Amino acid sequence: MVGKFFLTTAIDYPNSRPHIGTAFEKLGADVQARYRRMEGNDVFFLMGNDENTVKVSKRAAELGLDTKVYCDDMARQFREVWDALDISYDVFIQTSSDRHKECCRKFIQKVYDNGHIYKGKHDGWYCNGCEEFKSDKIHGENAGNCPVHKNPLIRRSEPCYFFKLSAFQDRLIAYYESNPDFIQPESRRNEIISLIQTEGLRDINISRQGEEWGMRIPFDPEFTIYVWFDALLTYITGIGYGDDEATFKKYWPADIHFIGKDITRFHTALWPAMLWAAGEEAPKMVFGHGFVYRRDDTTGETIKESKTLGNVTEPMDIIAKFSGEAFRYYFMRECPFPGDGEFSWRRFVDVFNSELANNLGNLLSRLITIPSKNYDRVLEGTGGKTPEAVVANLDQKAFVNKVRGHVENCEYNQALQAIIQDFLTPANQYLETNAPWKLVKTDKEAAKNVLFNAIQSLRIASILLFPRIS
Ligand SMILES: [Zn+2]
Repeated sequence: MVGKFFLTTAIDYPNSRPHIGTAFEKLGADVQARYRRMEGNDVFFLMGNDENTVKVSKRAAELGLDTKVYCDDMARQFREVWDALDISYDVFIQTSSDRHKECCRKFIQKVYDNGHIYKGKHDGWYCNGCEEFKSDKIHGENAGNCPVHKNPLIRRSEPCYFFKLSAFQDRLIAYYESNPDFIQPESRRNEIISLIQTEGLRDINISRQGEEWGMRIPFDPEFTIYVWFDALLTYITGIGYGDDEATFKKYWPADIHFIGKDITRFHTALWPAMLWAAGEEAPKMVFGHGFVYRRDDTTGETIKESKTLGNVTEPMDIIAKFSGEAFRYYFMRECPFPGDGEFSWRRFVDVFNSELANNLGNLLSRLITIPSKNYDRVLEGTGGKTPEAVVANLDQKAFVNKVRGHVENCEYNQALQAIIQDFLTPANQYLETNAPWKLVKTDKEAAKNVLFNAIQSLRIASILLFPRIS
């Protein structure tokens, strides 16, 4: 064993089914989990749904369902999609579970006992869609409206509990400075640091009043806990915080939290501060991945998928039409994980045909068919050369290290680019040039050598592709 590796994805609001952007995040995390397992790490991969939110109880009410019944059914539907994509998670947390709530209450009590929570009054502009108070600085085009939802903000005033986030500002800045990998990719790191330095951190209201659904605050059950304060805790309750100290100590701190770039601030400021307030360590890395936009094949228009806006592409529609594997390949190949990418049905078909079917598929099929027909599937003892014979000027070790570096940096598209263009394409060309299907008729031994060399390349490519980048 190399060591432990604990990684998580964001947990999702189950007010509607997952869209392709949600799936994109799970894929990127899954490739990393599979790669780290291959490296010999003891990997723990956590996912889940964020259920203790007003959005979810509203949606259940619209459908005339009990909220918990609704949440359980949505969790089943989410997991169905994750299973169809072969996401290798170890645990799936539902925040409405009794165990999660129990462990959260212990954490919140501890933060309170440590003096980091105080009672006060919150007065501000609130968005029901975001479930948060917005800063009063919304001017110009969006004046009075939520910048995300575009709906009018409502004035809300209520007694509440504050978390002393402002007290952690200096420690956060120092942590960012001494842990340059903490916020990834680099561009998000700079954004967050400059945001905190210019705007500063204010104490945050962590309670809500008058909500039926949600988690009661242990020291004042009139209040429920603000959804973020409970959702973030999934990352520790999921590995035993609160009732399984040994497992928690084994896996914490998290090696990577994968999240959408829009929630970087919660994860890189609020979350470490919460942990410190309870006497725990901050995570090692927060990786804010890019978004997937949909390109309309007819109009060419680019659209951001949003559950709130109701314009989502269902992963299951793509999986049913192609396959889970094709889905994985497209998004990892076509959309750079740290940046933004695009999905269009037309492009999906192109990539599927040109790279999966014609390049990898064709190579595999030739290398199975010819040896089966002519050599009873046995090519050993041919004295075949290394892949250097197939790919001109290849330094195999350097090539493998390059691919590994890309995977470790979550540059999955670049890893695939290298495997396809620098490795599989030359292997296909080598077969074309040497045409073992013809050669076998005149020189069976020479054809065998060609096949052996090509199969070596395919073997190495298979190992590199094993974390299911494809
Ligand atoms: Zn909003």
